[in-house]
Amino acid sequence: MSVERTELLVIGCGPAGAPAAREAARAGVQTIVLEKDAVIGAKRVCAAGLRPGFCSDFDLSRDIVHCDTPRLALFDARGVEHALRFGPGHTTTREELDGAIAQLALAEGADIRTRMLFRDVRFERDSIVATYADLAGGTRKEIAAHALFFAQGSTAVLESTPLGYARWRSGLMTTLQYRVYLEQPAAPIAYESLEMHYYLGQEGRQVVGWMFPKKDHLAIGLGVVGKMEGHSLRQELDAFTQRVAARLYPASAVRAVKTEGHLLYMEAPRDVLRHEGAAVGGTAAGFVDATNGEGIYEAALSGRLFADALHRHRNDPRAATRRYAHAVRSRFVKRLQHRVKLMHFLERKPERFGVLFEQLAATPHLPEVLHAEGNRRTVRDRVFLYAQMARFLAKSA
Ligand SMILES: Cc1cc2nc3c(=O)[nH]c(=O)nc-3n(C[C@H](O)[C@H](O)[C@H](O)COP(=O)(O)OP(=O)(O)OC[C@H]3O[C@@H](n4cnc5c(N)ncnc54)[C@H](O)[C@@H]3O)c2cc1C
Repeated sequence: MSVERTELLVIGCGPAGAPAAREAARAGVQTIVLEKDAVIGAKRVCAAGLRPGFCSDFDLSRDIVHCDTPRLALFDARGVEHALRFGPGHTTTREELDGAIAQLALAEGADIRTRMLFRDVRFERDSIVATYADLAGGTRKEIAAHALFFAQGSTAVLESTPLGYARWRSGLMTTLQYRVYLEQPAAPIAYESLEMHYYLGQEGRQVVGWMFPKKDHLAIGLGVVGKMEGHSLRQELDAFTQRVAARLYPASAVRAVKTEGHLLYMEAPRDVLRHEGAAVGGTAAGFVDATNGEGIYEAALSGRLFADALHRHRNDPRAATRRYAHAVRSRFVKRLQHRVKLMHFLERKPERFGVLFEQLAATPHLPEVLHAEGNRRTVRDRVFLYAQMARFLAKSA
């Protein structure tokens, strides 16, 4: 039986895989995407906050934007609010975001196949062969690719490949989120703000909570590192939701609540990001900011950098993945590694969250420089950052 062949195979059609497919197909690379879900984005659990400029950076229509959020409200361990003006950031839903990027990838000629579950991969002399289950047909199939981009998110199981990472499982956070549909709108400030809350939960564990507003609902959720029993997690989220309700919608009845939960990887990026003509991107690579769970931007950028590297080294996928790994390291991997260290430092003494948030609120330039990619920081920015860091350490001590 002859095995199907393609130039590029992408596993997963989320914020990492879909931009990779879109930009590779636009450059004329024959691209197939395998996506396990029947409807792209429909099952993704996410608060779907986007950083300022995301739509224009990735050529997306603003139709997907629900709310513009010029306010970031950080709540410290004592529940004190520290507000920062920024951006504005935006909110959307993953149905709309992932669906929109997938449509653009299709328009560029990518072949996106849904209900296809990637199972395994083997590296042969001149190709990479992926095995997958066709969930609609109930059959097992193979496809041989010149280059491969793994983008299957936090559930990425790559242990059987050279991209495996022993510390992957210990970096997983359990999350639970309510989509709260209200009878009357919440207070106007709710629709202008992205709220992040950092506090010790009922079991004495560090909790990161959020409230992100959407057109027709509020996404209220939280995450805890490691596993937490479902009942306790729900109790924790109920208590948090009550506090949000008391501030933002004390008078409104709740029409409906949809509950959703998922894992999120929140530690350092994988050590190994490439092997031969295969590379890993997005959350599957560990590209998530450990301080706030942001990963959509890094996912989309990693997809773009992969497509660009492949376009430049079309006849040499090994060189393409080397270029890709170098690009992601210089653009944001160091920043993400620092975020992991910062988060651990804050968690060791939760009162440090307040010290940091106070400094961020009082120094509007600091959040801008912190968000900037490594290659966009000037020498002046770096000196500024070191000075701010010294100030923060002195105050934390
Ligand atoms: C509760 C929660 C809230 C979050 N909030 C935010 C936020 O507000 N802003 C932000 O920037 N980030 C947020 N994140 C992080 C963000 O969701 C991820 O960083 C982002 O989704 C990464 O995109 P990705 O394409 O790498 O992976 P994913 O979005 O996970 O996409 C992976 C895709 O691969 C498919 N797939 C998986 N396995 C297979 C397989 N075996 N075969 C075929 N297909 C497969 C999946 O169905 C999916 O479509 C949040 C995460 C969680 C869990």
